Amino acid sequence: MGDVEKINLADLDREAMETLFAERLGSKAFHGRNVLKWIHKHGVTDFDDMTDVPKKLRAELDEIAEIRLPEIVFEQPARDGTIKWILELLDGQRIETVYIPEGDRSTICVSSQVGCALDCSFCSTAQQGFNRNLTPAEIIGQVWQATRELGRSPTNVVMMGMGEPLANFGPVVTAMNLMQDDLTYMISKYRVTLSTSGVVPNLNRLREVSDVSLAVSLHAPNNELRDQLVPINRKYPLEVLIPACREFIKDDKRRKVTWEYVMLDGVNDSIQHAKQLIRLLEGTPSKINLIPFNPFPGTDYKTSPPERVEAFRQKLMKAGIISITRKTRGDDIDAACGQLVGKVRDKSRRQLRRQVQKPVAISPPPQGSAQ
Ligand code: SAH
Repeated sequence: MGDVEKINLADLDREAMETLFAERLGSKAFHGRNVLKWIHKHGVTDFDDMTDVPKKLRAELDEIAEIRLPEIVFEQPARDGTIKWILELLDGQRIETVYIPEGDRSTICVSSQVGCALDCSFCSTAQQGFNRNLTPAEIIGQVWQATRELGRSPTNVVMMGMGEPLANFGPVVTAMNLMQDDLTYMISKYRVTLSTSGVVPNLNRLREVSDVSLAVSLHAPNNELRDQLVPINRKYPLEVLIPACREFIKDDKRRKVTWEYVMLDGVNDSIQHAKQLIRLLEGTPSKINLIPFNPFPGTDYKTSPPERVEAFRQKLMKAGIISITRKTRGDDIDAACGQLVGKVRDKSRRQLRRQVQKPVAISPPPQGSAQ
């Protein structure tokens, strides 16, 4: 046998696994389902330990397949119980995954890319530039590792780590299928949330193949401001984005779109902005998450004062829009929204361009103050 690359079984969801067993291996689909369970439910990565899979089939599997997942190389607990894991990928690059406990809920915040190709001005992942998409194994591997660490599956997954999930469509859908599968992690469709900056064509595609919950990084109530904060808005402006989101939830009366809105001092946090937002979302079942801006070294943005966030929230609530101010979690370990960085070999050369434009950030702003 030559060195043909082996199939990584951790890249496969149930359908792909069944196809591999029934068609390529000439075996039975149910053996594929068993292997899926071994990997994800029991955390087994050695074929020899898969005792209900026939020995001969295990030997055949060993010839063509392997099970490879990212590894935790560093674990950092925060004061509030949040944990940040740094995972190393097969090519040595690093990504971050965050575990957020809250009462009897446990949420894992999962990354979808190494870095991010979008250039949102208030996000520290963006400053890192972009290297590559994660494979399905690297995405579900974050949930796999968390499940092993916690001793049980998380109750919720949010695709809100590094990267734009809709820019890595196939692998993200495969991984989300696995999260929801009742042979593996059994997380309900209401508890797997994809967050996007608004890649509208792929949002429309997602509707056809997945029933996860939707969160959208809105951050501004008009195109002029959103063009600056979330540059992909220039390609898919609000008049295109909002109807696509409405369409996404329209078949399920229980659904709302969750809008994420980072509160930036003096930029998007006035009562005038709140009024525009109310008008913009009229007719769309909505929930708003106000996120206090989490500063990072080199940024000029500041966190809105808590009174202003509360006044903004009250305005929205009075208009009948459920709005919550998201508690900042894990900020003492840089695990909060927009602070995930990893170790990115920047292919977009953004880091380099930034260094040329803006020499050095001398003193980082205080972490987690004013929150
Ligand atoms: N690319 C996807 C997934 C990232 S989710 C998306 O844009 O939705 C991470 C969330 O944190 C997004 O809503 C993002 O806009 C927000 N965020 C980014 N930087 C932040 C910061 N510095 N402070 C607070 N929230 C931030």
